[in-house]
Amino acid sequence: MNPPDSTLLVRNATVLVTMDGARREIAGGGLFARNGIIEAVGPSETLPATADRILDLDDHVVLPGLVNCHHHLDQTLTRNLPVAQNVNLFRWLTAHYRRWAARTPEASRTATLVGLAELALTGCTTCFDHAYVFRNGCTVDDQIAAAREIGLRFMVSRGSMSLGQSRGGLPPDDCVEAEEDILADSERVIARYHDAAPGSLLQIALAPCSPFSVTPELMRDSATLARAKGVRLHTHLAETIDEERYTLARFGKRPVAYMEELGWLGEDVWFAHAVHVNAHEIGCFKGAEVGVCHCPSSNMRLASGIAPVKAYRRAGVKVGLGVDGSASNDGNNMLGEARQAMLLARLQISLRPPEGPDTTLSTSDPSRDAEWMTAREALELATLGGAAVLGRSDIGALAPGKCADFFALRLDDVAFAGGLADPVAAALFCTPGRAAFTVVHGRPIVAHGEIVSIDLAAVVAEHNRHAARLAALSE
Ligand SMILES: [Zn+2]
Repeated sequence: MNPPDSTLLVRNATVLVTMDGARREIAGGGLFARNGIIEAVGPSETLPATADRILDLDDHVVLPGLVNCHHHLDQTLTRNLPVAQNVNLFRWLTAHYRRWAARTPEASRTATLVGLAELALTGCTTCFDHAYVFRNGCTVDDQIAAAREIGLRFMVSRGSMSLGQSRGGLPPDDCVEAEEDILADSERVIARYHDAAPGSLLQIALAPCSPFSVTPELMRDSATLARAKGVRLHTHLAETIDEERYTLARFGKRPVAYMEELGWLGEDVWFAHAVHVNAHEIGCFKGAEVGVCHCPSSNMRLASGIAPVKAYRRAGVKVGLGVDGSASNDGNNMLGEARQAMLLARLQISLRPPEGPDTTLSTSDPSRDAEWMTAREALELATLGGAAVLGRSDIGALAPGKCADFFALRLDDVAFAGGLADPVAAALFCTPGRAAFTVVHGRPIVAHGEIVSIDLAAVVAEHNRHAARLAALSE
């Protein structure tokens, strides 16, 4: 870790993207930070001349660290499982539940490290992990220790599943937990780890998994506990038509109405996916200040659908991005996810009629320009959007008082060749490459394109031994 009162100077970036209130992009820009907090951002000549650590980033674009709002790091152990390659969500889950339940604490450690390493190499500095399968001795503590080891800003849920197949849920009974155990462990984890202070490197959320794996009682009790302790609430919602059919059949309500009945529409809540919603439900999210985490790769991979991200934005709903579990993506590439969000929003234009009275307009008509997601809008979703969804005002932008979380891309990389008329947009339009530097709270996690906080090669080798054992299991 940094010594006390350590300073960091970044200077001479080809362009530094602030995402501040004026959305400044500063040519020849830099920043000065002390103890992980930014004190100054501006043209390099306006910054202090020296610091304990200096990064001279000429020929780089510097961007605020990306914020991943929905993930399941343990699924890095079960990427690309052959039996789950070509099936939709419910069949995909059924193929995985027992394998996830069979992971060991040591396997969970390596999966967390591998997933966070890949995220850091693609510009991510803050990750929320929706952990929800706790069997075989695994606890949230395993992942927290790993996140501290590699050094990313981490938010993790003491998530849960309590509704097994014998009671009408999707997961096998031997993969779920007793509700009193879940709530007791939730209290323990919050008391031990949750840090609400500005600049926090570790926060806890409560996240019952989904309407088809958790009882209404546990949804309600989790919300009551979260609000008593001041932590945020999260779950999967409106991800697939199968889920909508499930809640209609079992509870007589669409997913959003079901969650409203359970007291789950509030500013302290964000939902993953939120694909299958109507205009009224988008209005409900806005009214209650609920956040949404858009997971485009996972939604495509599992043929779940396309979330109405532009409609959410027009309505003023908070939207962030998530790579989702690495078994439904099958990666942990956060810059790639921002690119995917931009591209999928464009595909969506071609799939719906124009929004004006003239339904004959083509996608090229200038009156439809506002429907296009720009590279900068996708970057905003991945930075400020994610910060808002996670309830953080101290990350997502490079400005005085914010955390020194950022990443840098080399502009002499082959992927950018010929695309440098707009180096900021190039970060998304051109094939996303590795970050040259990724810095969290002033501490380099990636330097010169390599992870420097852990021995990644050794971790990957151990991780793959655990993964091979799980792949050999049956459903
Ligand atoms: Zn998920």
